[in-house]
Amino acid sequence: MTGSMGRQGGFDLHTHSVFSDGTTRPAEIAAEAAALGLSGFALTDHDTIDGWDEARAAAHTVGIDFLPGIEITTKFGGRSRHLLGYGIDPGAGELFAALAAVRDSRLWRAREMVRRLSVDYAITWEAVLGEGDARTVGRPHIADALVLAGYAPDRGTAFAEILHPGSPYYLGTHAIDTDDAIRLVREAGGVSVLAHPAAFRQRAPLPVDDLGALAAAGLWGVELAHPENRADWLPPLAAAAATLGLEITGASDYHGAGKPNRLGECVTSSDLVARLRSSVRVPG
Ligand code: AMP
Ligand code: FE
Ligand code: FE
Ligand code: ZN
Repeated sequence: MTGSMGRQGGFDLHTHSVFSDGTTRPAEIAAEAAALGLSGFALTDHDTIDGWDEARAAAHTVGIDFLPGIEITTKFGGRSRHLLGYGIDPGAGELFAALAAVRDSRLWRAREMVRRLSVDYAITWEAVLGEGDARTVGRPHIADALVLAGYAPDRGTAFAEILHPGSPYYLGTHAIDTDDAIRLVREAGGVSVLAHPAAFRQRAPLPVDDLGALAAAGLWGVELAHPENRADWLPPLAAAAATLGLEITGASDYHGAGKPNRLGECVTSSDLVARLRSSVRVPG
C-alpha cells in the first residue's frame, strides 16, 4: 500500500525503543502504529521489559492493542540467534535472572569495546550511554557515539567499517542457549518465536535441522515475514515450519532512525495474534 494511509490492521510484533537500541520512545511507537492504522504492536526490546508500562499506557491512550514482548540474546549451534518471547510473566524469576546476566555481560563487553576503540577514536563511555534510557547496551549505542563524533555518517556505516565481528575492537557477549530460553519463556507463561531466521547479514540461514530441534524444545513460531530475511533462503524454512506445525509471524524490527526498517512494513494478522494472546499468561 502506498500513500499516507499506510497499512490497515494487523500487528507489528517486533519493535525496539530507547530502552534498548531503538531511537524512539515506546509512546512514540504506539502513536506511529495508530497513525498507520495498525490494530496493535508488540514492544520487543533486547533483553529488557522496562518499556512495557509506557507502551501499554500509550497504546491505551491511542486506542490500539499492546502485546508485551522481548527479544532475547541467545545462541544455538555456535551461532547467535534472537528469540522473541511474548506474554511472559514479569514475576518469572529464572528467566529474569538469566536476562540480568545477559545485560551485565553486555555492559562489560560494551565498556571493553569502548576502551579498545578509545585508543584510535575520540569517544567516551558517557557519549555511548547518551541520554541513559537504555537498559540493554549494545553495538548500536557505540555506533551512535562514533557517528556523533564524526567517524561515520550513520549506524550502518559504523557497523560495516568499525564494529563488525572481524574488527579488532569487536567482542562477543554472553548469550542464553536458545533451547533453554524457549523453556524459560514457556515456564514464564509465554510463547517464543525465532526472529529473522534468514537475515541477510548472517552467513547462512538457520539450518532446518536446528528449526526442528527448537520446535522439539517448544518453539511456537518463526518470523518468516521480516524485511531482512532473504527471499531465496526462505522456501526450505517455510516448508519445515509447515511440517513442524510452527506458526508464521511477520514484523518490521523497527529501530526508529537506527535502521531502515519501517514500522508496519511486515505484520501479523489479528486472528493469529488473538490465538497467541489466548495461550499466554500476560496477553496485554
Ligand atoms: P549487539 O547485540 O550489541 O552485538 O548488536 C546487534 C544489534 O545491532 C542488533 O539489534 C541489530 O539490530 C543492530 N545492527 C546490526 N547490524 C546493524 C547495521 N548494519 N545497522 C544498524 N543496526 C545494526
Ligand atoms: Fe537491535
Ligand atoms: Fe534481532
Ligand atoms: Zn530486533
